Amino acid sequence: MTLYVYKFGGTSVGSVERIKSVAEKVKKVQDQGDQIIVVLSAMSGETNRLIALAKEIQTQPTEREMDVLISTGEQVTVALLCMALHELGCKAVSYTGTQVRILTDSAFTKARIREIEGAKMRADLDAGKVVVVAGFQGVDELGNITTLGRGGSDTTAVALATALKADECHIYTDVDGVYTTDPRVEPKARRLNHITFEEMLEMASLGSKVLQIRSVEFAGKYNVALRVLSSFKEGCGTLITYEESQMESALISGIAFNRDEAKLTITGVPDLPGVAYKILGPVADANIEVDMIVQNIADDATTDFTFTVDRNNYQRAKAILEESCVALGARKVTGDNTIVKISIVGVGMRSHAGIASTMFKTLASEGINIRMIATSEIKISVVVDEKYLELAVRSLHSAFELDQIAEEA
Ligand code: ADP
Ligand code: ASP
Ligand code: MG
Repeated sequence: MTLYVYKFGGTSVGSVERIKSVAEKVKKVQDQGDQIIVVLSAMSGETNRLIALAKEIQTQPTEREMDVLISTGEQVTVALLCMALHELGCKAVSYTGTQVRILTDSAFTKARIREIEGAKMRADLDAGKVVVVAGFQGVDELGNITTLGRGGSDTTAVALATALKADECHIYTDVDGVYTTDPRVEPKARRLNHITFEEMLEMASLGSKVLQIRSVEFAGKYNVALRVLSSFKEGCGTLITYEESQMESALISGIAFNRDEAKLTITGVPDLPGVAYKILGPVADANIEVDMIVQNIADDATTDFTFTVDRNNYQRAKAILEESCVALGARKVTGDNTIVKISIVGVGMRSHAGIASTMFKTLASEGINIRMIATSEIKISVVVDEKYLELAVRSLHSAFELDQIAEEA
């Protein structure tokens, strides 16, 4: 007997009709004599709707109340799916994160899972029931409801698969696998049969929202057999594996991008020890995450310092930097919140030279100015003006021949 964890995203449970078709799919697993735990997202748009409601009342609601609010979307879908399963004559039971006891830390809106109690679910499975769990949520030691960050149902699924030692974890979504880039931006994007955990981690952290980054970390750490598939179309999807691609010729596996970027620069900072700390310390104290950092030395013993932050934090970070500018006796603060980050990712980069120059040449030939560059072992990221996003992604996709990758059936 096989134990599956199936996770269905927002679009896959976006209407009553779709919930009914999820029920049919789940029933098939039971009919073939296997066990199944289902993890659901809220109906598509619901989490955003709830956030917008909150903002109508308070610009900065407490994160605790936000979690009480935004965890409700998933409670709706799990109950509806159980009803649909009951209609089909299947035994099924729904649980919220609190009811299962998905224990997390108390970092509201971005909690981390600490422990999952498996006994109740195990007993239900052994009694022939489908177990349906609300994704994205947990409970802390004190009984407060927590959520796991946007896209967190992926992480719930992988964590349940780990805790119950499931044989396979399937993430059903509105695309039929992980593509060379977001197919909404490049229609010529190709589905990958395999992608390594390492590459998927980079893709997710660089903006490919097809899987939440923590779900990939979790799956890699606990060796969960993780597959991304379509809810609507038959197919084998994409397997996330430790193995490197058989396609020797693939220099890069994918292109990720992040539209939620902003950059800030402070110029004419006296070039003394401790300057980076004095600039970034107050930003970190305000709980603002900094991504790329570039420091330049000018001839006159002053330095220019540029870094990127999430666009939502742009105004706050700018205000902090303006205070530091005065304190440090620096020249001025400038910023831009109309930039994006585009990254090419691939383990092939380790053994091939010249990938960066191909990337820069391609962007140059389209007249796209690169504003910042960062590299690591298996990725190269550039910051460009947001108006160039589509052009940059498509021209890189073609320059690295990603549209030539053969898709297997
Ligand atoms: P769900 O609601 O099922 O969790 P998401 O919207 O979170 O779905 O993730 C699926 C979406 O991820 C796709 O519709 C696609 O636009 C986007 N996406 C971004 N990058 C990629 C990629 N490399 N491969 C596939 N999909 C991607
Ligand atoms: N409903 C949550 C969100 O929209 C969690 C998820 O769908 O994974 O982010
Ligand atoms: Mg998602």
